[in-house]
Amino acid sequence: MKAEKWQKIASYQEKRTDQVVRCHLCPHRCVLQQGAAGICKTRINQSGTLYTTAYGNPCSLSIDPIEKKPLFHFMPGQPVFSLATGGCNFRCLNCQNWQISQTSPQSLNGYDLDPEALVQRAIGCNTSMIAFTYTEPTVFYEYMYDTARIARGKGLKVVWISNGYINREPLLDLCPYLDAANIDLKCFEDVMYRKLTGGRLQPVLDTLLTLKEKKIWLEITNLLIPGFSDNPEMITHMCEWLFANGFEDTPLHFSRFFPNYKLTDVPPTPAESLLEAKAIALKSGLKFIYIGNQPRLHGEDTVCPQCGHTLIQRYGYTVGTYEIQDGKCNRCGKSVAGIWHS
Ligand code: SF4
Repeated sequence: MKAEKWQKIASYQEKRTDQVVRCHLCPHRCVLQQGAAGICKTRINQSGTLYTTAYGNPCSLSIDPIEKKPLFHFMPGQPVFSLATGGCNFRCLNCQNWQISQTSPQSLNGYDLDPEALVQRAIGCNTSMIAFTYTEPTVFYEYMYDTARIARGKGLKVVWISNGYINREPLLDLCPYLDAANIDLKCFEDVMYRKLTGGRLQPVLDTLLTLKEKKIWLEITNLLIPGFSDNPEMITHMCEWLFANGFEDTPLHFSRFFPNYKLTDVPPTPAESLLEAKAIALKSGLKFIYIGNQPRLHGEDTVCPQCGHTLIQRYGYTVGTYEIQDGKCNRCGKSVAGIWHS
């Protein structure tokens, strides 16, 4: 099939000269000469017009438990139809999905599903939620946006799993069609952010604030990479910033790193680092702290911040006991932040 089939005029473009365009979708704000592609590999300048090449051609489709995103305070135990196209606006040294994230959508053998067909596929799989995930959904923004609108119109919930590297205007335009998001906060120091990802810290913080302002259900993931993002002082600053900016009820997932991609010589995160990070976060006043990718630490249960009752037991992606009724702790009646089913 011709690649042009999946092209569409890109949003948020600015014509600089007859042949040069600037993209304002993400904070890179690439300036593209005729024929050039952006850092994300999904947007190209053709004769002075910017096109997305990631529209209707997902490379990955799957049904996942919502816990895999991870979202722990949003429809626990429910399956979510999940998809991605190729491309990403980050260059993470530890990328788990580099085979698709660092490749242009056209060079991957994918599916042929326009937004309407995609939503029908999700409904046909008996899922009531759709998630844009795996790579960075911002780089297939138009496809995500159109799909989200249709999905919402058919009663599905829409989930965005993102690195948060998007400009405010496109994010504000997307927010009316979002129900929940998990944002990767890679570390809390700009120099390290650039080294690890190729992006900057502040735009990601801005995204967190915008999602909060727009009342989108939000959870945050922080991967602890030894020598890169596991510094206790950095974690303290991050948790203090989150608390000071009103994120005390936002679940924070500390995730265990495993050697991958360009960081195969870095060891997995020791259990002690994960436990220390959790202790720092709790001490900072954050209420819901989870430890991921390390089930034997039993850091995945949801505990009532008032009475200590275990509200939801989890092991890996499996949900056991569920002790929340009408959004409140079954034992003491304390409201628990989240979007719950009864
Ligand atoms: S979305 Fe792509 S082309 Fe646009 S600014 Fe970001 S990296 Fe550059």
